[in-house]
Amino acid sequence: MMNYEDIEKLRSELLDTKKKLADYAMMHNMLNRISSIESESDVIKGIYEVFTILCAPAQLIYFPVVQGAFDQKEYLDKNFLHQEQEIQELINSDIDYVWADSQKGFFLKIKHINEPIGIIKIHEFTFPEYRHHYLNLALSITQVLGLAIDNSRKYNKLKQAKEEINKARKAADTANQAKSDFLANMSHELRTPLNGILGYAQILKMDGCLTSPQKSGIDVIERSGKHLLNLINEILDLSKIEARKMEINSSDFYLSVFLNSVVNMIKVHAEKKNIEFHADIAQDIPQTVRGDEKRLGQVLLNLLSNAVKFTHKGEVAFHVFKSGSRIFFKVSDSGIGIAQDDLENIFLPFKQVGRHARTIEGTGLGLSISRKLVRLMGGELNVQSEQDKGSVFSFDLELPEVSDPDEMRIIENRSITGFKGKKKKILVIDDLLENRSVLMGLLLPLGFEVVEAVNGRDGLDLAYEFMPDLVLIDLVMPVMDGFEAVRLMRKSNQLKNVKIIAVSASTSLSHQEIISKSNFDDFIRKPVDFDEVFKALETCLELEWIYGENICREPDCISDNLKLVLPGRSDLESIYQYTRNGDIMKIRQKIDEIQAKDVQYALFAKEMGKLALSFQIKEIREKIKGYLDTDHE
Ligand code: ADP
Repeated sequence: MMNYEDIEKLRSELLDTKKKLADYAMMHNMLNRISSIESESDVIKGIYEVFTILCAPAQLIYFPVVQGAFDQKEYLDKNFLHQEQEIQELINSDIDYVWADSQKGFFLKIKHINEPIGIIKIHEFTFPEYRHHYLNLALSITQVLGLAIDNSRKYNKLKQAKEEINKARKAADTANQAKSDFLANMSHELRTPLNGILGYAQILKMDGCLTSPQKSGIDVIERSGKHLLNLINEILDLSKIEARKMEINSSDFYLSVFLNSVVNMIKVHAEKKNIEFHADIAQDIPQTVRGDEKRLGQVLLNLLSNAVKFTHKGEVAFHVFKSGSRIFFKVSDSGIGIAQDDLENIFLPFKQVGRHARTIEGTGLGLSISRKLVRLMGGELNVQSEQDKGSVFSFDLELPEVSDPDEMRIIENRSITGFKGKKKKILVIDDLLENRSVLMGLLLPLGFEVVEAVNGRDGLDLAYEFMPDLVLIDLVMPVMDGFEAVRLMRKSNQLKNVKIIAVSASTSLSHQEIISKSNFDDFIRKPVDFDEVFKALETCLELEWIYGENICREPDCISDNLKLVLPGRSDLESIYQYTRNGDIMKIRQKIDEIQAKDVQYALFAKEMGKLALSFQIKEIREKIKGYLDTDHE
């Protein structure tokens, strides 16, 4: 039988156990909490709280351990540094605790996966008789503490790594932006002189009385300019693809007309190399389809010109046929072929393979761009090849048939010599004389009335005076840029309905972005392709072209029977002024302008043109002065 004392003892033990259980429960909660704390100092604060509840010690000190050594750097309370040796001994030993100060306290090793990561000193307990009990409890929770500290350190490392990644990403973004800016600037700078070269090559080609050496000379200039332009475009395409900025622009087009023009271009190359070229285009392909004509053309021309380039005897074949709802394109050749090991390499940028690498013209960019373009258009470019036997490149695309196509116009492949109907007025705004001259040289002989301005501000003033039907405007200009000038024109009651076409060497904005950004009616990229100009003029001004033989612009071709008719006094005065400034470009331009005005000035234009061609500015001045004086008398 239990006596009263036994019952009382049991009751007090029970109470004691209940209190301990409550303490454990609270501790359990706190331990749970600290194991998910992210900063090490907060974890330590949590540990202090746990031990305060557990044993209410007078002193509690935490010493961080990093890579097996007491980390003084992290440990800020210098008062306890004299215990350093004791701590380091415990770290190095196999034991997990040592009593300190005649068992008034203990050092406890906190480990994670057997690695010491901290030491905690607990000292001067409120109930020293429970010290063994406290030690046991402390030992039982070190694993959780170790985990919590390790977690917080990992989190810290992760945070640092994330910060570094962010820094690196920002640096890469800045570098990429700098690269894009450089490419955009370089492209702009190269396009501007190319606009002069290719523009004048096109103007000169329209001259009906060129001798054949002159014609082939101009062809060389045009081909070289186009080659250079192609290189710039390929590099820009690649950087756009890398920056994921490449866009596919779909429109309706006549598939067979498009394929014929591709075939005709390649046929010429194949003929020159004396290799056979077969084009097999199935009859049942849809007439009109929707797709990105320009990009499809780029891919096909790349594959076909490679086929011709890498074939020295035999043939190149081009097959196009329907395959379900898709159109299948195949380019095969009997050329040098590609080694199996190189079949993937050919799609890498700047990669040229095989014995002929680097000896044949090319940049090694074409296939890398083509593969990405085909993917963007929803296909996959495949290759099969055998060395010394030949290669087959193929892909298929969804090119939906269009039964009710958008209005499509094909510029006839004959020379445009003028247009029907009322004279149209065009204002050309560009800060560079070369760019203005190309457009003037194209437009004046066709019968347009053209005036020019050198920046947005001048252009705007002139527009109010001249009231043009159409404005061709550059975008980047000093004083006032094209965007601002157009914004002001669109705001003005008199000018808001005038047709405006942007003409720019900028490649950073897409065609659509430029048109929508400033309410332009169309956009022509420099260097200007005259067919594009004709298309844009035809749409904006609703023109009907007159086609014919190229007109002879060479002064020598003009009949000597013509009588000299002088142009108006203001034209003569302008020329006189230009001779005083020594501005030969303006003189030539003015002469062209006068010649285009009326055939009666042909002899005057012939005489002046000859002098201008040989830079005889002084002679021109004297002659004009003579005409002005005579006219005056
Ligand atoms: P490029 O033709 O400017 O060198 P591409 O990217 O178009 O660049 O082609 C990369 C390389 O792939 C070529 O230099 C050539 O080594 C190889 N290649 C491409 N097409 C053919 C082909 N039809 N026959 C043999 N080799 C080819």
